[in-house]
Amino acid sequence: MRAALLYGLKDLRVEDVDVPIVDAGEVLVRVRGATTCGTDLKIFQRGYVEKIIKLPTIFGHEWAGEVIEVAERLEWPRKGMRVRAGNSAPCLHCAMCQKGKYNLCENMIWLWGGYAEYVKVPARMVLVNMQEIPEQVSYLEAAVTEPLACVLHGVEEAGVKLGDTVAIIGAGPIGLLHMLTVRRMGAERTIMIDLVDERLDMAAKLGADETINGGKQQVAETVRSLTAGYGADVVIEAIGLPATWEQALKLARKGGVVLEFGGCPLGTEVKVNAEQIHYGELTVMGTFHTTPLQFRKALSLIASRTIDVRPLITREMELQDIGRAFEILSTSKNEIKIGIVP
Ligand SMILES: [Zn+2]
Ligand SMILES: [Zn+2]
Repeated sequence: MRAALLYGLKDLRVEDVDVPIVDAGEVLVRVRGATTCGTDLKIFQRGYVEKIIKLPTIFGHEWAGEVIEVAERLEWPRKGMRVRAGNSAPCLHCAMCQKGKYNLCENMIWLWGGYAEYVKVPARMVLVNMQEIPEQVSYLEAAVTEPLACVLHGVEEAGVKLGDTVAIIGAGPIGLLHMLTVRRMGAERTIMIDLVDERLDMAAKLGADETINGGKQQVAETVRSLTAGYGADVVIEAIGLPATWEQALKLARKGGVVLEFGGCPLGTEVKVNAEQIHYGELTVMGTFHTTPLQFRKALSLIASRTIDVRPLITREMELQDIGRAFEILSTSKNEIKIGIVP
């Protein structure tokens, strides 16, 4: 089969590899659609996180497809079923899982392999994180379940409420998914902050109430002037840089919540103002990844179009052109996610 393998920094090669062989409890899926992700781009450009990816590997973790082969004695799924799965499956029995923190599982398994004609889903993932895709949902839409699930985890932990003003730093795919989600949760006003006008225009088109170009405007002052001097109820950092982590702290009101969603490189330290946390009762939190429950919920929100992810897939390309897809994502200001059709 054809597959895109990541060998290292900016080294992605489309090669012929063997179709995986299905073992006990496993399922083979013909990938019909995969989407590019900010995490993929980050790993491609900056390097990889050893815990979750070992090189060389077939790349890509947002995908959906058709079940081709099912291990013997497995009752579900059946052949021909349209499914999505992964990109993670918690063990359900470690200390973190037993506390309900499935996203922090000590024995998490991760699945890479969406940028290929076939992907084999491990037995545990078939059990805890594989879902059938409703008829009206395209494979590419279903592939977006993974990032939306991460966003749901973030906003649920941050406790976004009806009537909140939410400021979001970063108008890339993750920032936009946050914006679409908090609007549905009843945010009264969303303020999107980015350095690229084209992205802010896209955010406005998708429903952002206010946009701020941080390269041209004073971000903290503008957010304050839009909120009668107080700051936003909830601030979400959706980039993953120490500078924007610190900037997020300056945009929240007293008693507000700052969700540091974007992952910074390991070892990064940021400055936090103690006065703001004590006298200002600021809650600063991070969230990581997501849980099987939220994967399920994300897929059904996509299916009902409660959260319409279709506008986020700005281009479709074939698997053989994946190198160019990542070049385009690295340089283009207009692309959000590229659908890869193997
Ligand atoms: Zn992703
Ligand atoms: Zn566990």
